[in-house]
Amino acid sequence: MEQLNTTETNTAKEIKKKSIYSLQLNELRNWLSENGEKPFRAEQIFEWLYKKRITSFEDMSNVGKALRDKLANHFDLTTLKTAIQQTSSDGTIKFLFELHDGYSIETVLMRHDYGNSVCVTTQVGCRIGCTFCASTLGGLKRHLEAGEIVAQVVKVQQTLDETDERVNSVVIMGIGEPFDNYDNMLSFLKIINHEKALNIGARHITVSTSGIVPKIYQFADENTQINFAISLHAPNTELRSRLMPINKAYKLDDLMDAVRYYIDKTGRRISFEYGLFGGVNDSVEHAEELAVLLKGLKCHVNLIPVNYVPERDYVRTPRDKIFAFEKTLKNLGINVTIRREQGSDIAAACGQLRAKERKEETR
Ligand code: SAH
Repeated sequence: MEQLNTTETNTAKEIKKKSIYSLQLNELRNWLSENGEKPFRAEQIFEWLYKKRITSFEDMSNVGKALRDKLANHFDLTTLKTAIQQTSSDGTIKFLFELHDGYSIETVLMRHDYGNSVCVTTQVGCRIGCTFCASTLGGLKRHLEAGEIVAQVVKVQQTLDETDERVNSVVIMGIGEPFDNYDNMLSFLKIINHEKALNIGARHITVSTSGIVPKIYQFADENTQINFAISLHAPNTELRSRLMPINKAYKLDDLMDAVRYYIDKTGRRISFEYGLFGGVNDSVEHAEELAVLLKGLKCHVNLIPVNYVPERDYVRTPRDKIFAFEKTLKNLGINVTIRREQGSDIAAACGQLRAKERKEETR
């Protein structure tokens, strides 16, 4: 029986085609040359994928039938299936997409004064185990390939095409730890940034990590202009370890060293996300300790009032305490904003929709 199952899994893997959205332009050129085709076709194909945003290889009208068939035999274009699409009263749209193997992921479109922002998922589940987060319920099922991340932005753009709007910015803050799927995440960044693809400027892309220290050094060395955020959530290492087990592997001091390296190397400002968990990390003393930790750093703090997760028992910080926390930081010279909540009526916070709709995946 065991044997049979293994064989079946292997076969399933062989049948699964690579997403065409996983290819960089030069990779597509190479593939075309290796398959006896003209490399310049790559530009045409990119145009169909990212500018005209077709949904079938058959629609590539200036690409000959033989090549269209070849592409269809090798690559997958229908990488994601929309299982659920919900619109919130504030215009936020939440998508639950189904993957080829039946797993599901979430993508969120947020409407801001400064444009449309898409929050993408990088993994099915997560293995970081933050004690307050819904995405980590059920652990990590698998990494997403680059094209499965790219396709999320394409799908949202296709929805916006109906109203002649465009995706203005992308945040990698959905389900999963992007630095735990580093190569695919980087590949995704390059594709959406490419002018012949979605052409989303680096300064309009934000990546957030829970603090995988060696990858922060690696990311600093990539020298991109991408906005970088760290999920901090605590002003000292003891409290951080209680909230985020990753702090046991990469301690706060080491994290701050990596942050300083990043700022020195790139000259860019860093954002710190700080979730306010009622009675846990939200006192004025915590704010003072945080100000000392961040003193002199080129940074900005984003305060996130906790999103209620039924499986977790954190409670909201009262409004007056949120403002007191913000004021303390401001008075001590730290740049700070309170994150505006969006789409709460449709469970738009990370991992919530999937946890609700796909209980079997998150147990
Ligand atoms: N894994 C990456 C990307 C997720 S970004 C990271 O940890 O940075 C999503 C942000 O929301 C992170 O800062 C995360 O810590 C935070 N978050 C997760 N669950 C939350 C909750 N219930 N309330 C408030 N913030 C939460």
